[in-house]
Amino acid sequence: MRGVSLDFEGRVLTGVPRAGRAEAVTYAPRRTALDALLVAAARTRGARLRERFSVTGLVTVDGRVTGVRGSGPDGPATLRARLVVGADGRNSTVARLAGSAVVEDRGTLARSLYAYWSGVTEPGVRVVFRGRRGISLWPTHDGLTVVSLIFPPEEAPGPGRAAEFYTAALRAVPEVEQALKGGALVTGPRAAAVRNARRHAHGPGWVLAGDAGHHKDPVSAQGISDAFADAAVLADALGAGLRDATALDEALAGYAATRDAQRLAAFAYTCEQAELRPFGADFLADLGRTAADAQATGAFVNTFVGCDAPSDAGWLGESH
Ligand SMILES: Cc1cc2nc3c(=O)[nH]c(=O)nc-3n(C[C@H](O)[C@H](O)[C@H](O)COP(=O)(O)OP(=O)(O)OC[C@H]3O[C@@H](n4cnc5c(N)ncnc54)[C@H](O)[C@@H]3O)c2cc1C
Repeated sequence: MRGVSLDFEGRVLTGVPRAGRAEAVTYAPRRTALDALLVAAARTRGARLRERFSVTGLVTVDGRVTGVRGSGPDGPATLRARLVVGADGRNSTVARLAGSAVVEDRGTLARSLYAYWSGVTEPGVRVVFRGRRGISLWPTHDGLTVVSLIFPPEEAPGPGRAAEFYTAALRAVPEVEQALKGGALVTGPRAAAVRNARRHAHGPGWVLAGDAGHHKDPVSAQGISDAFADAAVLADALGAGLRDATALDEALAGYAATRDAQRLAAFAYTCEQAELRPFGADFLADLGRTAADAQATGAFVNTFVGCDAPSDAGWLGESH
């Protein structure tokens, strides 16, 4: 998708984000498609994959991690490695077993419900904020559109009420109802509530990448891009670092510093969005001016989608 439409209480900014000099393309892949691509790419580069293998323990020698223990379809196994990368998601086993300290925990700030729709013809990403709720439409594979609703925890529907709450919240916004006209729900809404937390990234023989090291509310839709960015920074930092333990520790420290420098602003910005504070009059007036200025609109859209880092945590306005 190239186009992005951002609607804050009726102030609408539209644009095509830019990554450097090129137009940025937004993808909202289903995990089934993305994971299969990643596995195929890793195999092409020579990686050996053990599917359905669960890591349950770390092997350590003199305080240094030297491998993992776990089990899969072929039974239990111990795998030795000079470096164990915990890329095992927000409930990371590697982080827990390595004793990685949580350096910041903002808790669970928002709740989400999301469902897949067919027959929706929105060509780009559309995000609509009304009061303390946000609704986003993302075209994805197979002619489907994923429609997410984010809301504050105190509005969370009781047991068995999620579908009714989700549908009513979408219908309450005429622009969303119009966009979904002719569409049909193909799944019931699924619930999500993600903690916003960052962990210390490395220790002797281990390192965390992606959600294992920092995870945040899906409201800013940055998690996958950030996981890829971590992987790239780690690969670059390792360089000749696998040569010996000292070089490795230095390389991991370099990775952690770069990761934090690159990710901190987006983490703070995501938490700010997930607090879902109502937009203040000053912010909305500013947005009106931004919408009338093509360059300012471009900069805003670029930051909102994550092509540019927000300049500071109060980016969405003092009163937001
Ligand atoms: C509801 C919801 C909506 C989201 N929406 C977006 C969005 O729109 N855009 C976006 O960019 N991000 C979104 N995210 C965040 C995104 O899913 C994550 O940031 C991203 O998947 C992180 O990738 P990862 O590889 O670090 O971890 P994961 O994708 O969690 O992958 C971890 C992998 O490790 C495996 N694993 C875990 N434990 C073990 C173990 N002990 N042994 C072996 N393997 C193990 C898991 O099976 C999994 O395959 C959303 C998240 C949620 C919950």
